[in-house]
Amino acid sequence: MTYNQSPWSLSDLFPSQDSPEMKAGFDDLDNKVVEFEALRPSLSTDMSVEAFLKMLQLLEAISRLANRIADFAELSFSADTQDQAIQAFLSDVESRMAIMSNRTLFFSLWWKGLEQAAADRLMAASGDYRYWLEEMRHFKPYTLTEPEEKIINIKDVTGTRAIVNLYNTITNRYVFHLELDGEVKELTRGELMVYVRSHDPALRAAAYQEMYRVYGQDATILGQMYQTLVRDWHNENLDMRKYANPMQVRNLANDIPGDVVDTLLRVCQDNFSVFQRFFQLKARWLGLERLRRYDIYAPVVKTDKKYDFDQAADMVFDAFQLFEPKFANLARRVLDQNHLDSEVRRGKMTGAFCATVAPDITPWVLANYQGKPDDVATLAHELGHAIHSQLAAEHSLFTFHASLPLAETASTFGEMMLVDRLLATEKDTSVRQTLLFRQVDDAYATVMRQAQFAVFERQAHDMINKGATVDELSHAYLENLHQQFGDALDVGDEFRWEWVSIPHIYQTPFYVYAYTFGQLLVLSLYQQYKAEGESFKPRYLSLLSSGGSKSPEKILSDAGIDMHNARFWQGGFDVISGLIEQLAAIPVAK
Ligand SMILES: [Zn+2]
Repeated sequence: MTYNQSPWSLSDLFPSQDSPEMKAGFDDLDNKVVEFEALRPSLSTDMSVEAFLKMLQLLEAISRLANRIADFAELSFSADTQDQAIQAFLSDVESRMAIMSNRTLFFSLWWKGLEQAAADRLMAASGDYRYWLEEMRHFKPYTLTEPEEKIINIKDVTGTRAIVNLYNTITNRYVFHLELDGEVKELTRGELMVYVRSHDPALRAAAYQEMYRVYGQDATILGQMYQTLVRDWHNENLDMRKYANPMQVRNLANDIPGDVVDTLLRVCQDNFSVFQRFFQLKARWLGLERLRRYDIYAPVVKTDKKYDFDQAADMVFDAFQLFEPKFANLARRVLDQNHLDSEVRRGKMTGAFCATVAPDITPWVLANYQGKPDDVATLAHELGHAIHSQLAAEHSLFTFHASLPLAETASTFGEMMLVDRLLATEKDTSVRQTLLFRQVDDAYATVMRQAQFAVFERQAHDMINKGATVDELSHAYLENLHQQFGDALDVGDEFRWEWVSIPHIYQTPFYVYAYTFGQLLVLSLYQQYKAEGESFKPRYLSLLSSGGSKSPEKILSDAGIDMHNARFWQGGFDVISGLIEQLAAIPVAK
């Protein structure tokens, strides 16, 4: 078939940013917020179920409209980041939305403070909103008095948030120098990191050395910022809010029990040897005695194979169709409604994403399709996200979105369906190898690397509390790498500065394990599918259709998965080992 690659249509949201419909949208939003504010006095312990539901529905309508406006602005910006009118519109929308969310904030504060019996009575009658309401209340025991919360909010602006902003400002203006074809080039971090996947071993080493030379120069100050953030985390969350440990704050937000995270991280540590074996094989394929840390993403094969876009889209649909026709239909809908923008153009945002606006609106997908086997897999990944949210369309705006640890369940699975299909049909060995390497490289970066970041974070929080210096933290970080890689890799000393280059541990402490969780979950699910075939599908479909309407634990246990059980997570590593064995069996063409 022939498909359109040109810019998407946003007309399902608004005709344009200066249309009468957009103006009416803003007016309508304001009227609804006024209406919502007027209901504030009706909030009470003994308010009727009808009055409560009316407020929830109104809040949902407000959020839906706010999403439509904000996503219109953001999607317009992604399609053309250089258009000044769009930039101005986007920042106007952002500030209006911040004001709007402040005006409706009273509801969640009241709800969190409400006594249990009254909350139970209202939740029992709130249908699909229930889990969303329940989850908000998880924070009740850790919430301080209103004046205390206000002081923390105000002081955070010039405290922790200011430090994170400074960290971003300092690190985003770093300029990296790399000699390319005899000429020294100035690069951004993103541009520099392209070369860690270069075919030239000297260039891979130079890219990493330059990266940590620059970060290392500022390591004392960046490390100090981290120490300050960690101390604040401890003072606020442990001393004042009485969380039991630093990671519990994030676990509660993800609604994942602490023992599950402990098990997950322990299983990763038990499987260090899986990737060590991969790195040893990779050394052999690259003709090296031993791999260096610089070489872990080194390409082993070169493929020139290109797929034109129509061919790629058909391959993705075929793979989905083979699994379940419904998947193919939901993915097709994104293209049929012109919600996909896949061409490469100047000023368009790089990378790929899927944006979901509301349950009843088909998501938008952005990709920069260049024809490589990788790009086909990315297309399958993003369309997988689109399938996930459409399957959950029966839920409310507050409950259709999968929570962070489950957010990659359909996307990564979709990618694996495509890779399997390609492995089965593609005769070209270099393409097959490229795809398998992509799978294992990604599994390393998403599963093990992130798990070890979380392990380091836990250790660092403990050490900083006991007064550790920046050098002591760097030493601990290097030790973490040595444990992970064993004898399989040579790790350059400059990698001791890697931790000061990870924005996540500054911005959102303990965020990273969600990546590990999500990826191992999908690998385990995929293994179940391979083992069970047809009988797996209804369980999987109902898992996806749950969206975010239940806790991750409930969603998974309904699908027959016990996330407390180490063997479940081990299943994910067994898939990775299987991929590595497949690679080991293919002779590498030199
Ligand atoms: Zn994704």
